[in-house]
Amino acid sequence: MSILEIKNLHVGIDGKEIVKGLNLTINSGEVHAIMGPNGTGKSTLSYALMGHPSYEVTEGEVWFKGQNILDLEPDERSRLGMFLAFQYPVAIPGVTVANFLRSAINARRRAENPEDKGVSIPEFRKMLKEKMSMLKMDPAFAGRYLNDGFSGGEKKRAEILQMAVLQPSIAILDETDSGLDIDALRIVSEGVNTLMNEEMGVLVITHYQRLLNYIKPHFVHVMMGGRIVESGGPDLALQLEEHGYDWVREKYEAAE
Ligand code: ADP
Ligand code: MG
Repeated sequence: MSILEIKNLHVGIDGKEIVKGLNLTINSGEVHAIMGPNGTGKSTLSYALMGHPSYEVTEGEVWFKGQNILDLEPDERSRLGMFLAFQYPVAIPGVTVANFLRSAINARRRAENPEDKGVSIPEFRKMLKEKMSMLKMDPAFAGRYLNDGFSGGEKKRAEILQMAVLQPSIAILDETDSGLDIDALRIVSEGVNTLMNEEMGVLVITHYQRLLNYIKPHFVHVMMGGRIVESGGPDLALQLEEHGYDWVREKYEAAE
């Protein structure tokens, strides 16, 4: 079953078109990777999917679990089961990781049923303990203030824990930023591999071929000039590592 279907998506920032007719379908149980050179619109795509107000969708459709989501607010998309890992997570001193996660769960429960009293503290603690043990995380981590003084790896850990608790239908991980050291790569990839199941889909956006040595994508796509210009299996990532993007660019320019 298709979870996410992007049809002819065009996205602009300040009137400048960045994403120019992108098509992509992700079915449940599939991990897709989008790779591509810097400035090609990968982050623009992920922000537009999540409904960031600065990114204007000028054409196209995005279907998520059978619903056209382009008119929905970011929080509505999130409640439907979309999850976007932030490249620059915000620090919230005074709010622990555990409290943040409990608020997130309660917000979602109340959206489904305004009468909901929220998850009880013992129930939440038990669930959090299980998730943290599954992800091999130190329980003390839950007591720290969210992203406050976190290392790159710890930010990734908080992100993956959030994903474990919210159990999204689709996780979009934009990992293009520098500062993804080996530790962070390992945390993200082990987390995704542990949490991945037949009901969900994952979209990993990266220009690091290395990440794909850890997360095994079923499909690899190359984005260039705001569009997907080449798709293939995991071998495509290896080809890109070995030969770079020039051969794709030449092929794409020849076809224009
Ligand atoms: P990628 O993630 O593939 O490196 P981006 O989506 O970040 O690419 O950027 C694509 C293009 O859009 C770049 O030319 C970038 O300068 C431009 N861009 C991105 N964000 C903004 C913004 N907030 N305002 C203006 N231009 C932007
Ligand atoms: Mg980017």
